[in-house]
Amino acid sequence: MTRLIILTSGKGGVGKTTLASNLAAALTDFGMKVIAVDANLSTPNLALHLGLHLAPYTLHDVLSGKTKLEKAIYPHPYGFKVIPASLGLNDLKGVDVAKLPEISLRLLGKADFIILDCAAGLGREAISALSASDEAIIVTNPELPAVTDALRILKIAEETKVKVIGVVVNRIKGEKHELTKEEIEDLLGVPVIAEIPEDENVSLSIAARKTLLEFSPDSPASREIKKLAARLCGVKYKDCLLYTSPSPRDRG
Ligand code: ADP
Ligand code: MG
Repeated sequence: MTRLIILTSGKGGVGKTTLASNLAAALTDFGMKVIAVDANLSTPNLALHLGLHLAPYTLHDVLSGKTKLEKAIYPHPYGFKVIPASLGLNDLKGVDVAKLPEISLRLLGKADFIILDCAAGLGREAISALSASDEAIIVTNPELPAVTDALRILKIAEETKVKVIGVVVNRIKGEKHELTKEEIEDLLGVPVIAEIPEDENVSLSIAARKTLLEFSPDSPASREIKKLAARLCGVKYKDCLLYTSPSPRDRG
């Protein structure tokens, strides 16, 4: 069975695209077939994160009827597949975002997980992407404005009958003013399923156009993303150690 999961947020810049590319990689490590879709049509950057920004066919072409879906699915060296969006502003012409649900339906059966990265906020594009999904992960930072915006998208997800799996809190610095896991759970009423720390390797990996899991597989953020992937696959995190190099203590 294919799981169609959208990574969404109220506020922009919280880490959806970073999580989409690396969750795709982490799920691949667990033997899952994954397709990561850049459903952020107005401000796309998943392809940029993954070094696929020069792909000749994109989701824009599919949505405007210029290309067949199959032509816009590219293999990433890590082992998962990617449907990039176009960086060209002109390509937005003739694109019908309302067709996104039809595209995701056509992807069913082609992978174990379809991960959709989408635009932040409550605009038409973000809502179309939500309607194209069965399940949602809400991404936020541990700050009050981001969590307040997350609450708004959570309500929309519920109205759209999308099952909210939980909240991922990203860029945790451990500073005093940050909301705690418990406070975020109280405010949103859904469980926090991952807590990803601030990690300088994230921006370094994006600059290198590599996933964080390739660039720095044992970095603090990588480990938390692998834990989340384990949770989504229903396996214990201990199993993840198969995919990370052993710590000096484990080596004895
Ligand atoms: P969104 O897709 O929600 O707009 P991005 O994934 O593009 O967010 O991330 C926004 C910025 O935050 C990027 O420049 C990225 O380098 C940085 N970032 C994301 N997650 C982390 C993290 N865990 N640690 C440090 N920087 C991060
Ligand atoms: Mg993004």
